Amino acid sequence: MAEKYLLSKSSFIKGIQCDKQLYLYKYHYDWMDEVSESQQLIFNRGHDVGELAQKLFPGGIKATEDPRKAAQAIERTTELIENGTKVIYEAAFVFDEVLVIADIMVWDGNIWNIYEVKSSTSISDTYYQDAAIQYYVISNCLNVKDISIVYLNNQYVRNGEIELQKQFNTESVKDKVSEMQDLTKSELTRLKKVLMGKEIPKIEIGPHCSNPYQCSFWGHCWKDIPEYSVFNIAGLRGDKKFELYELGHIKLEDVPEDYPLSKTQRLQIESHIEKKSVLDKDNIKKFLSSISYPVYYMDFETFMPAIPKFDGTRPYQQIPFQYSLHYQETPNGKVEHDEFLADAAGDPREPFLKKLLEDTKEPGIILVYNKAFEITRMKELAADFPKYAKETEERIERIFDLMQPFQKKYYYTPDMLGSYSIKSVLPALVPDMSYKGMEIADGGTASAAFESLFYEEDAFRIKEIRENLLKYCGMDTLAMVKILNVLQKL
Ligand code: SF4
Repeated sequence: MAEKYLLSKSSFIKGIQCDKQLYLYKYHYDWMDEVSESQQLIFNRGHDVGELAQKLFPGGIKATEDPRKAAQAIERTTELIENGTKVIYEAAFVFDEVLVIADIMVWDGNIWNIYEVKSSTSISDTYYQDAAIQYYVISNCLNVKDISIVYLNNQYVRNGEIELQKQFNTESVKDKVSEMQDLTKSELTRLKKVLMGKEIPKIEIGPHCSNPYQCSFWGHCWKDIPEYSVFNIAGLRGDKKFELYELGHIKLEDVPEDYPLSKTQRLQIESHIEKKSVLDKDNIKKFLSSISYPVYYMDFETFMPAIPKFDGTRPYQQIPFQYSLHYQETPNGKVEHDEFLADAAGDPREPFLKKLLEDTKEPGIILVYNKAFEITRMKELAADFPKYAKETEERIERIFDLMQPFQKKYYYTPDMLGSYSIKSVLPALVPDMSYKGMEIADGGTASAAFESLFYEEDAFRIKEIRENLLKYCGMDTLAMVKILNVLQKL
């Protein structure tokens, strides 16, 4: 096995997505965007799923301790194979200047089986490409009988200890990746040429920047796109946005008057150019007449563990762990607050539901922002805990959606920047309130933060994360109080 390599499996996949991404990854690594907490959660999740999948083939030995020390890993892999090791985790190989690391290799008596582990619940085209390059390299170093992808089975419901055979699906992809070998080889030759180039490939931004993955050089390539541009036209298809971009229409002001857009998209542009708000008083009045006091303002946070943590849950099931509830008896009346934040220990669902039902037992409509989310979670909870189903149904019937007037553009101001999300509506209507600068400022980060509490040991950090979660969720419902107030004043 040669040790010199130009590409790795991940750089190959980056190159398939975009030549420029590959080049920047190889030669301008420091231009890469910072990894967000939600992205870090995805990496950690992949790592955890990988470690669990190893237990499908117990007793193996790890060949790669640090993927950056390729030479060491290759040497150790050779050693383990020569010593007759039957199961090897993270075995490293180089062929044709490509380094790959096989998640699991199992010796079946006279030939090797390879297993690639994925933390998703289905096999995508990228996974086939990924397995194809693995197979190309490894089958040129060893005799390979089969190559399979091991992925999560989203129909598996945990009951007691994780049952590995049910938690994972294993599917042979050898036939498919064998057919892809010629293409893989020619792509490899092409990508090597890209890396030999003296200059960064001249590639424009396009749909490939987020397909199949969000490119990690986004900040570099998109730096000249203004913060508010044709890419923020609400509801416009991605290909149409790039069509405008390629025609040189980047700012909203540049969009030709005869370019086909919907009524609300046109309204967004006109409102921006003329710095004018749109107000449909009749419909706002109609909406407000459906709101009778007392009013509860409610918001949930959820997390989705890839490996089910609790009995009765499936991989990636949304588990509610926190809610915030503001309450107002009369318009402009005193605002009271209740909340729930689970401990990162047992299953939070039943305590969550029990307290929620208790906190909302007095009459009053329940206002949420984007009711589909809260209603779906409540229906799931009712199905999982049938003894609360009747009461939960009663609460669902009291739910109203504060997002509606903004989604339907009954009220729109240029500061909403085309979005009706609460994160855009709040600062547009209540300029002294915004999510900017908050440690946790979106649902994805809240999920990641809560999931991190299961592993965090530093008491100070746990306290800090919990306080940030309470602040964030509380902000969501306080925002609703303020937004409703603005609508009433209109
Ligand atoms: S941001 Fe887009 S154009 Fe730039 S490297 Fe990434 S994929 Fe290529």
